[in-house]
Amino acid sequence: MPKCSLSDGCKKDVPSGHVIISFADEQRWVVPAGIVHLLEYHSWQPPDDFIHDVMHRGYVGSEHVACVPNSLRAKKTGHESSDSPQIPTSFKEKLIAMIP
Ligand SMILES: [Zn+2]
Repeated sequence: MPKCSLSDGCKKDVPSGHVIISFADEQRWVVPAGIVHLLEYHSWQPPDDFIHDVMHRGYVGSEHVACVPNSLRAKKTGHESSDSPQIPTSFKEKLIAMIP
């Protein structure tokens, strides 16, 4: 498993590639495969729309990909936040269940 490259002090094992998560109404998001690590260690702040979809929109399925195809029109999500991210308590559990 590759090492986290986000910050010099981290170096934890994280999955490589991305996960495409599909929700109802053909809503799709591309997230880093290591998103749970990002949430736990790097104050990852997903966009509000993504949090809403995870919490409320019907989950259809997900797929792990090494690279994201250019043809895929999915939204990319997340950035490192210097503030404490505003994430609902059950968000991480729901998200973990969606990551293959
Ligand atoms: Zn890390």
